[in-house]
Amino acid sequence: MKKILIMIMALTAAAVMLVAGCGGEKKEAAEKILRVGTEPTFAPFEFQKEGSKEYDGFDMDLIRAVGKQMGYKVEIQNMGFDALIPALNAGNIDVVAAGMSITDERKQAVTFSEPYYTSGLIIMVNKDNNTIKSLKDLEGKRIACQIGTTGEGKARSVAGAKVTAFNTNTEAAMELTNNGVDAVINDSPVVGYYLAQGGNKTAKTVGEVMEAEQYGLAVKKGNDKLAADINKALAELKKNGEYDKIYKTWFGEVKK
Ligand code: GLN
Repeated sequence: MKKILIMIMALTAAAVMLVAGCGGEKKEAAEKILRVGTEPTFAPFEFQKEGSKEYDGFDMDLIRAVGKQMGYKVEIQNMGFDALIPALNAGNIDVVAAGMSITDERKQAVTFSEPYYTSGLIIMVNKDNNTIKSLKDLEGKRIACQIGTTGEGKARSVAGAKVTAFNTNTEAAMELTNNGVDAVINDSPVVGYYLAQGGNKTAKTVGEVMEAEQYGLAVKKGNDKLAADINKALAELKKNGEYDKIYKTWFGEVKK
């Protein structure tokens, strides 16, 4: 009798351990982590409110929603814009969410999701500058931009221009205020937000928004499974109204 009792107790203990083991695995599965890289001087897409370590903005809300949809916990890492693609390829992050324009050149290095936002570059100058009205007028002039961006590419395409590429957009904008440059080239929605928020009362935009650029989330080249999962999540967020909700938070009306 005693032996049977001991056996039952042992079996019960084994069963409890087995269940606990399964539970443990489940817990791990629920805490899959999506490591996201961004460069947070790009409001309203990614920024940190003064004195805050939190990541705010359209891209940040979007990637958190995408991660949630995919069952991941999202962890955001702050790095230079030009460090994002190398970090992806080194396996230090899983996704770039940084208002990154989908370009043919970048497509050689990474795999992009479907586009999630349409943007384009614009020129910003000081209000008292009445000679610069277009890209052509920037020939031989001093231009500030952020390193590794499409804005830098555009600036470097201008004949005779003296281009200074800064680590952050904040520094590029500051250089214009300090009259260290004649113009800044950056993404239009970012310049628009900066001016509308009163970030700079002495600057203005000139000319039209240049050709359209599409933002995409980037993953390591060949990580087609993750790209497909992200696309699926994006499509679901568009269908269930979550994308529109996030869009409205940052841009007001929903662009159709
Ligand atoms: N959209 C631009 C690019 O991809 C700028 C991005 C940024 O500064 N975060 O280069």
